[in-house]
Amino acid sequence: MGTTNLYSLPKLSFDTKDLAPFISEEQLRLHHEKHHAAYVTGANGVLERIEKARREKADIDMKSTLKELSFHLGGHVLHTLFWGNLAPKGKTSDRPTGLLATAMEKEFGSFDQFKKEFTQAAVSAEGSGWAALSHCALTNRPIIMQIEKHNVNTYPGNRILLVLDVWEHAYYLDYKNLRAKFVEAFWNIVNWEEAGRRFEDALK
Ligand code: MN
Repeated sequence: MGTTNLYSLPKLSFDTKDLAPFISEEQLRLHHEKHHAAYVTGANGVLERIEKARREKADIDMKSTLKELSFHLGGHVLHTLFWGNLAPKGKTSDRPTGLLATAMEKEFGSFDQFKKEFTQAAVSAEGSGWAALSHCALTNRPIIMQIEKHNVNTYPGNRILLVLDVWEHAYYLDYKNLRAKFVEAFWNIVNWEEAGRRFEDALK
């Protein structure tokens, strides 16, 4: 009780203009400083409301409260993972290396096949969602998720290795309605080093 631990907006590991032309500075700043920040505020707001209700011995509508927390916290966690798996073009290898490369080759047959499946998951997400490459600890296999909103159709416990935000707020300033163009551009700014690190952590 009475914890002061709250969620906070992480700093980016690159400058806001470093992902251009694939993601413009204006698009990136809006996304990080406004949209992501709103999920951090939202998640903290829910925690504060729960704590207040406990203090006042008031009833908590657990169903609606937890649904709201799932949405905001899902948004915060996914955006944090997303920024972490982006890097300026040329900063890291343009494809996976090491253990992740081997596992992807085994699972998908080729890197191009993985790209095709992930691209289709991203492009076909209904409304607002995400495509994610994850690691399933039960089978030790990489597996793609298509997440609706921030929290629907996820596989509990899977570690996310690589994620792409395909909410319109992620690309509308740069690509208007052309989500597929944004997904194509994404491949230029993937931080494969980070994805590989996440995979190796997941294996431990
Ligand atoms: Mn977003």
